[in-house]
Amino acid sequence: MNDAALKDRLFAAMRDVPDFPRPGILFKDITPVLADAVLLRELTEAMTAPWQEAGITHVAGIESRGFILAAPIAIALGAGFVPIRKPGKLPWQTAGVDYALEYGSDRLEMHLDACPSPARVLLVDDVLATGGTASAACALIEQVGGIVAGCSFLLAISALGGAGRLGGRPIQALLST
Ligand code: AMP
Repeated sequence: MNDAALKDRLFAAMRDVPDFPRPGILFKDITPVLADAVLLRELTEAMTAPWQEAGITHVAGIESRGFILAAPIAIALGAGFVPIRKPGKLPWQTAGVDYALEYGSDRLEMHLDACPSPARVLLVDDVLATGGTASAACALIEQVGGIVAGCSFLLAISALGGAGRLGGRPIQALLST
């Protein structure tokens, strides 16, 4: 697979939607990428490759676009999938982490028994922006006993500095702006 060509094709397929969901946000819409059978397979392979030898036992996806990417990566790595969800969505006993947003705060939850020690967890989401969401997700994985072996994103928006909030954990972004 030609990596540079794949990245060009992914950027070309991704859609920028200005002022969604709020004024001032340039939303990176990955739905055209997901709808393309070849791109979906190739991006899954490319996001999986760096972690083949990392001993990953679980892949954790952040609701909701993270789920879509995390599940095929988990299958490709021979790992399990675990969901990290918005509050009140998970049916069993949960742990939760509150985190600050630009305006207000949010919360992520995980089942207490999702990835017990010594699980080696790969965190997956579509976009790394300010890093607040991913950093809360890492804290949550560790709270329930997992080791964050790495973090993988389809796209990192470099200007927002999210990587700096992930505490030196290994990070891979297939695309970066
Ligand atoms: P952050 O916590 O600022 O790193 O934001 C990351 C989370 O918000 C991810 O779950 C993304 O799906 C979503 N997100 C943030 N900014 C964008 C954007 N410009 N386009 C698409 N999704 C975004």
